[in-house]
Parts: sequence; C-alpha cells; structure tokens
Amino acid sequence: MRKQIAAANWKMNLTYDQGEALLKEIIGAGIQLSSNQQALFAVPFPYLAMAKAAVKGQTNFDIAAQNCSNKKSGAYTGEVSVEMLQSMGIGYCVIGHSERREYFMESNKVLAEKVNICLENNITPIFCCGEALQVREESAQNAFVQQQLEESLFHLTPDQVQKVVIAYEPIWAIGTGKTASTEQAQEMHAHIRQVLAGKYGEAVAGNISILYGGSVKANNAAELFACPDVDGGLVGGASLLAQDFVQIIKALK
Ligand code: PGA
Repeated sequence: MRKQIAAANWKMNLTYDQGEALLKEIIGAGIQLSSNQQALFAVPFPYLAMAKAAVKGQTNFDIAAQNCSNKKSGAYTGEVSVEMLQSMGIGYCVIGHSERREYFMESNKVLAEKVNICLENNITPIFCCGEALQVREESAQNAFVQQQLEESLFHLTPDQVQKVVIAYEPIWAIGTGKTASTEQAQEMHAHIRQVLAGKYGEAVAGNISILYGGSVKANNAAELFACPDVDGGLVGGASLLAQDFVQIIKALK
C-alpha cells in the first residue's frame, strides 16, 4: 500500500529558534500516525540536525532536505551532497521544486542526475513537477507534466521508480492562495499515474505516492487528500503555522 504523506516545505523561512519552536509545537500535538502515513519536514540545510533531533522517537515523523547537488563530492563551493545528507541520517530530499527550476535554472536533465544520486544513496527523492499558468490556459498541462516525468524519471528501473515520491505542484497555485480544484487535482494525479502505468505497469504505478502541492491549507486538505489518486500534500505557507499543519497531517487518509 502506498504511503500517504504530509510534507512541510519551509522554503527559506524561519530562524533556527522559530523552526525549533514550530517543530516542538507540532510534535506536542501528539498526533499518532498509522503505518501507511508519514509526516515530513523539508527544512533549510543548517536546521537538518536540529530537526532530526526534534522528531527523534516520533513514529513516522521524518526530515527532508529541500535540495541537493547533482555532483558526488569535490570542489563545488556552497553545494551540499547527497552523501552528506545520508551521513546525517536524512532519508528524503525534495528535487526540482518549481522555484529551483525557475530561479536556479534546474533542467529536467540535471534533475534526472539528482534523482539518480539520491537513489544511489538510499534517499527518497520527492520529485516535483507541474505546469505554469500559461501552459494550463493552453490546455497543454498533461503533455507538459508527462515530458517532465519522461525526461527526469523514465530512465529508472521499475524497482527504482517505486522509491520516488512525486509531488504535482501547479505553479499557478503555489503561494497564490489559488488551489487547484479537487477535480483538477484528481484529473492530473490520475494522468500522472496513467503515464507511469504506461511505462511501468499498473502495479508499479499503484505503489507510487503522488502528493499535491499549491496552497494546501487546513481547510482544504481533507477534501484534496480524499481524492483517490492524491496521496497527501507538499505544503508551503500553511506548514509554517503549527495548528494549520497539525490539521493537515490529520487530514491524511
Ligand atoms: P504553498 O507552497 O503551499 O505556499 O502554495 C507549496 C510549495 O511550493 O511546495
């Protein structure tokens, strides 16, 4: 059974103390997750060790990095390697968030390399995909997302691809307060699963968690997560508010 995941994406927000206090408050809510549910916190690099310590002993609570280098090691000043993440017990890494694609020019090819290096080091990539508003207005979103999947994931074996978590994040819904409707979310998630099934078969596609991201809030999470092909969410703004993110975790199927 594929995992249902509520993943916080703090982006470049919160001081160290604020981050620690936020984690304390969320954990203090005493949420009990079942074996197919997972709460994740994608925190800035300098907070990884603190965050890892904060969730210690909490069943199915874990920490993710927001990015990693596509290089193994060496003279790449300012970069953080997957091996470094792995050596501090980090098991997840967000790959190809639209902000990285847009502001840091990350291409599907570079993202394929990042996916590979994560999998080689037993780190679960949370691979982000999703179209801009213009693409949606041209009704070209299905082909666009399919191409992102093909160019960054389709070189993987069936075994490998089942270790990837996918996050569909329509760019027009990120940080805008404009959420995809449940129909739009379900339609795209079903499309993604169909594309995966076309390449890898139904069984493999059925094992892959597909998260929705883009203005997930405490008051719309349950409705979105109830969609049959939506397996939780990647949450930005609302993950910075303890009570809201607690509600979002509780909305998991
Ligand atoms: P948002 O961000 O929830 O603030 O829209 C989601 C994301 O970018 O991961």
